[in-house]
Amino acid sequence: MVHQFGSISKPDIALRLGISLPTAVQSVKSLQLEGLLDEGDLLESTGGRKATAIVFRKNARFAIGVDITRNHISIVLINLAADIIEGTRIEMPYRNESDYYQEVGRSIKAMITVSGINPEDILGVGFSAPGVLTEDGQMILYSHVLQVSALQCPTISRDLPYPSVLCNDANAAGIAEMWKHKDEPNAVYLSLSDTVGGAILLHDELYLGENQRGGEFGHMTMVQDGLPCYCGKKGCMDAYCSALTLSRFTGGNLGLFFERLKAGDKSIHAIWDQYVSYLAVALNNLIVSFDCKVILGGYLGEYLEEYVDEIRGQAAKLTTFSGNENYITACTYKREAAAVGAALLYVRPFIRQQN
Ligand SMILES: [Zn+2]
Repeated sequence: MVHQFGSISKPDIALRLGISLPTAVQSVKSLQLEGLLDEGDLLESTGGRKATAIVFRKNARFAIGVDITRNHISIVLINLAADIIEGTRIEMPYRNESDYYQEVGRSIKAMITVSGINPEDILGVGFSAPGVLTEDGQMILYSHVLQVSALQCPTISRDLPYPSVLCNDANAAGIAEMWKHKDEPNAVYLSLSDTVGGAILLHDELYLGENQRGGEFGHMTMVQDGLPCYCGKKGCMDAYCSALTLSRFTGGNLGLFFERLKAGDKSIHAIWDQYVSYLAVALNNLIVSFDCKVILGGYLGEYLEEYVDEIRGQAAKLTTFSGNENYITACTYKREAAAVGAALLYVRPFIRQQN
């Protein structure tokens, strides 16, 4: 079976499969019977004959993604095209207590009710959280940000009648970004939030490392014996490039930092210039190591689009390989990437299973 799989222009249709071999017809019909596929337009096949285009009904199934942070939760309900059908962000400081998990469950159920979708069409609930997880996504081994260890996924999802899985927040965000760049199978995602993390995506799959710590870029050494990092070491990238290193100059308000930067505030500008100089060092190291696109995301991702050229300019001063700085790009999802990525943990395998 030859599949041509990707986005098309009709706004209500996100995914389609081009079927060019007669032997494919039977399996396609069975998918149509299940209500997963519709027959659509004709695609140009590569073999010189017309292939019947099959449209994956994007609202045939849904998934929930929940991003758990220190101070709030974000919940999204997405369809098979990763469109956000419902989304909410709730101020809810994390507590490892039963009433917290009850509230998470209530909020998810309320969203499903409001959406009007059939609960039976929900594939599962993905939880994104900062920390190091077990390989099967069923436990947070430890999270400095949440101040929790050995937290089981069923503890979080106990009030929900759906399968559930955990994912590191930066990895989840990386998965969401890669969904938007299906034609590029390799990328590094750099999460610049109140802590710095990241994700390594090779051949469309996460590379997690031997101990699930792959992509913890925040603890790359930036300056020997430099500023203290929350991990207990000195000179980590986190101490120079987290969103906190900027927002602490504007009372914890990152948006205000960029407002003042835009308005030409000289002291803010000096802080920004220093920030970019450190960020450029990290980016140069990442690009030399991975030789692929580096996506700037996390809390800062919302603001970086208009500063990408400046950041590239600083990275260009350091690069050994001319043009490497062009790998640097701002993220596509300005907010809620981690929640969408967590939900995609159910959408991706479901779609692959049908292929
Ligand atoms: Zn560190």
